Amino acid sequence: MKKRKLGIYIHIPFCVRKCLYCDFPSAPADRQEQGYYMRQLMKEIRSFEPLGNLYEIKSVFFGGGTPSILPPEQIRRVLGRLCNQFLFEDDAEITIECNPGTLTREKLAAYRECGINRLSIGLQSADNAMLKLLGRIHTWEDFLESWKLAREAGFTNINIDLMSGLPGQTFGGWSDTLEKVAALEPEHISAYSLIVEEGTPFYERYGTAEGQRLLPDEVADRDMYHHTGKFLAEQGYHRYEISNYAKDGYECEHNKIYWTCGDYLGFGLSAASYVDGRRFQNPVDPKEYYAHIGEGYRMFRQMPAQSEKDAIEEYMFLGLRMMRGVSVAEFEARFGRDYRSLYGKQTDELIRRKLLQVQDGRICLTERGIDISNTVLANFIFD
Ligand code: SF4
Repeated sequence: MKKRKLGIYIHIPFCVRKCLYCDFPSAPADRQEQGYYMRQLMKEIRSFEPLGNLYEIKSVFFGGGTPSILPPEQIRRVLGRLCNQFLFEDDAEITIECNPGTLTREKLAAYRECGINRLSIGLQSADNAMLKLLGRIHTWEDFLESWKLAREAGFTNINIDLMSGLPGQTFGGWSDTLEKVAALEPEHISAYSLIVEEGTPFYERYGTAEGQRLLPDEVADRDMYHHTGKFLAEQGYHRYEISNYAKDGYECEHNKIYWTCGDYLGFGLSAASYVDGRRFQNPVDPKEYYAHIGEGYRMFRQMPAQSEKDAIEEYMFLGLRMMRGVSVAEFEARFGRDYRSLYGKQTDELIRRKLLQVQDGRICLTERGIDISNTVLANFIFD
């Protein structure tokens, strides 16, 4: 039987210290706590052994948190466990998120040795004042050191994460960050706008009407966004998702699994899975997560399949985030439904308003549609 393709996400919820804008499930922890978590995580992975007969791994993504905070031996063990349970595609993409200040030559060599072939480095800004404001643990110079070590270790597929729309950030400041980063020629750049999340120190500072005045306004934010696409295109990057840019051949395979509603399994605190039409999310609370581990696989099997309505809406929402959009033929093959009878009316109207376009049988956002993507995507929710 032909095995289906699977992405694996491993959540490592540890950071050196909490950034001021961050609402991800992550926190500082000592070696003992880290070790306990990793042992539980291994148990959780083992409990999904029965899926090994059905799936072949296309990508693994260690995210967080700061996975690079761990001794590399812990990462090696997880990959070893996965290798025991699953077949890997020959060219499986294996990524680890790293933060400057947590990488060493030895760690990077160990990553290479255990098969990691992609790094995703959280830089956010090339401006030290901005990094300090964000509560990051590193400077631009620390990042440069990590970058140099990563290239010397032989990594040829590296993403750099950036963030625009920061408090007090000017157009010039953002374009300076872009120029400095592009000059290094990473294979991939993710550039998201800051979202001020409730429950973070940033929310207290910038969540009020007064605080919001310290953030770039919507016009400035769109100017930065447009400049990003134009500048990076000149540097040889194509935008393939609203906030992601890659050199040819270096799109992130793991994220594409999410955006095309492919199968993925998430292990660790708060990790989400989507397998066989079933959605599942691990508890966010560590105590609940540990208590659930023994039951995880059984609960997962008992999850009802997603409703057709939810599956279709999600497919459109995620697919339209990609610049290549949604193929009408693939949509109809996947759901056995006629696209036009479901979405013909809104699609025609959005095309008339120049927010959507059709290219080679695919429905995709126009530049104008990208600017108000949330409004456009809301049209794909069923009444
Ligand atoms: S390094 Fe990332 S996950 Fe950790 S606190 Fe900062 S933003 Fe959050």
